[in-house]
Amino acid sequence: MNWTVERRDLPLSDPFGISRETSETSETVVVELTRDGTTGVGAVTPSAYYDEVAASVTDVLPELLERVDRVGDPQNQQRIERALWECAPDRPAARMAVSIAVHDLAARAVGLPLYRRWGLDPEAVPPTTYTVGIEPPERMAEKARDAADAGFSRLKVKLGTDDDRARFDAVRDAAPDAELRVDANAAWTAAEAVDAAEWLADAGVTMLEQPVAADDLDGLRQVTEATDVPVAADESCRTAADVPRVADACDIVNAKLLKCGGLRPAMRLLHAADAHGLDSMLGCMVESNASIAAAVHLAPLVDYLDLDGALLLAADPYAGVPLDGDVFDLTAVSAGTGARRDPSFGDSD
Ligand SMILES: [Mg+2]
Repeated sequence: MNWTVERRDLPLSDPFGISRETSETSETVVVELTRDGTTGVGAVTPSAYYDEVAASVTDVLPELLERVDRVGDPQNQQRIERALWECAPDRPAARMAVSIAVHDLAARAVGLPLYRRWGLDPEAVPPTTYTVGIEPPERMAEKARDAADAGFSRLKVKLGTDDDRARFDAVRDAAPDAELRVDANAAWTAAEAVDAAEWLADAGVTMLEQPVAADDLDGLRQVTEATDVPVAADESCRTAADVPRVADACDIVNAKLLKCGGLRPAMRLLHAADAHGLDSMLGCMVESNASIAAAVHLAPLVDYLDLDGALLLAADPYAGVPLDGDVFDLTAVSAGTGARRDPSFGDSD
């Protein structure tokens, strides 16, 4: 097996703000694996919030790829996953890039898209939200209007600022027909969140994501009990093992490959959520189609989808699963994840 690891810093079309930070670049690590003439692609955009950065990912990747090589058979993903876990249990972002590349390679080797390998229904893919990051209210309004015009009927509005009401109202007025969900990224106290949930419910918001600090499960439970708006745990729930802990404190868990370390761990998280009577969601970072495409194949398993990350890049070297309006069309994928280098990107480096 041959592999390449490449660091790509992909500029965003606009600075992307959430309550704790603003980013202008998606620091991406791309892994390509080739075996018997078939190449699989995977990638990750690590997050310092989750204690991994591009450099720590590229440091551990050679060792992870060595483990994959030692297993030999890319179809034996159970053994590969165990080997990755044993090698780097606290490096889920690095494991995610390898997990995607191996899944892509193995599915391409047998000529099937991932969702077909898993027997999933492409018609069950929920529409994705488009995320409006934190900016001045007038700019958020402009983004919301553009997204609604482009066919996104569900918007996710980032809040958790000292002027949430003005920002939210600007978006509401700019996209009066859109379904709005709100993500505070852990910014509020429980009391602030209960207050916000009240006016957000009156405004017709359909989901409230991570209103309080990641470790404040009592606060999360208080908010969930106080409002009829479904409350989602994101930062509070990283892996399947977290699901029992948050199960009585929220209505929805937001699964991300980045947090749990790849496709099989994400599937386990989604099944755990189901077993605990929770709804589920798939989310992402601002990241390339090289990784988003893989997550889309899990979309038939979830109730809520938020996989707009690649749309926020100024340009993406990879094309992924095509969107039809706000719905990813998995039937357009012939094999693997569907991610491939985009010839129009003009890669000269
Ligand atoms: Mg979130």
